[in-house]
Amino acid sequence: MENYFFGMDLGGTNVVIVLMDATGKMLARRSEPTKVSLGPASLVERTADACKTLLAECKIERSNVKGIGIGSPGPLSRSQGRLIKLGNLPGFDNFPLRPELSRRLAVPAVLDNDANAACWGEFWQGAGKNVRDMVMFTLGTGIGGGIVCDGTLIHGSDDNGAELGHLVIQMGGRLCTCGQHGCVEAYASATGTTARAQELLDAGRDSSLAQVYQNAGKLTAKDVFDHAQAGDTLALEVVDGTAQALALTSVNMRHVTEPELVVLAGGMINAGDFLLNKVRESFHKQMWALRHESMEIVYATLGENAGAIGAAGLALYAFEHDQLYDAGT
Ligand SMILES: [Zn+2]
Repeated sequence: MENYFFGMDLGGTNVVIVLMDATGKMLARRSEPTKVSLGPASLVERTADACKTLLAECKIERSNVKGIGIGSPGPLSRSQGRLIKLGNLPGFDNFPLRPELSRRLAVPAVLDNDANAACWGEFWQGAGKNVRDMVMFTLGTGIGGGIVCDGTLIHGSDDNGAELGHLVIQMGGRLCTCGQHGCVEAYASATGTTARAQELLDAGRDSSLAQVYQNAGKLTAKDVFDHAQAGDTLALEVVDGTAQALALTSVNMRHVTEPELVVLAGGMINAGDFLLNKVRESFHKQMWALRHESMEIVYATLGENAGAIGAAGLALYAFEHDQLYDAGT
């Protein structure tokens, strides 16, 4: 009898749900609108129904599903299966998502941070398939992080470890949304990248981005990368800063867990080799001279499914290590 696992990635707009087997094959996928305003109870009901639909589509009995993995924005409590505070999901604070969903489907479950789940997805089935030690940065509005050390996902003492976006790379540097100064997120996230370009424009610097801002009333990270690639000096300076910040963070991580691989994920990797080559070059320039480091920096390969795939993988891992929480507990 085969074992199957659900993976769920909770986002502010959509919930992605996948049904996978224990070899990592995805059998079915569904994306449901989160509909935040309807509240968490409605979400549990709708996602449970979606899971039942996937089972029916694949002609799989519910008793063959051994676990559900849920990835959610943090902070959260893994042991209680409870969300704590979610900026983009008002009304979901303190909701016991894991026990509620698990009870509804009568299947044991685990809850984890969405960046951790995405990292585990890439480790299990994506860019990190052949390594045992990797670090992942998800570059979006903020920067999410995940660390796999010796084949195990790092959670820390209170489940909020691996918040790699808030590693400080500049003493007394830019103010981050978290309240710290100098976090890598304040420099190298899509928001940080755009903000640095905007500040240079506001200071009166010449740039082809000025026209974009005039027409659209705002800038995006894509604008900055496009104009840098076209040779605009200001945009290039900003992208170099982004690459340098990511490289410096990679240097720091190399000294912490010595990963074989740093995986970059998220919307910003659409900038392609242009960004990747800059990060790699900057890494080797900034890394110590004591020995040549063979660590690779690569892009993620699973795209927007990484979180849901990883959540299913975390359910499988918990099943194999007897770490699943019984249905409804
Ligand atoms: Zn921060």
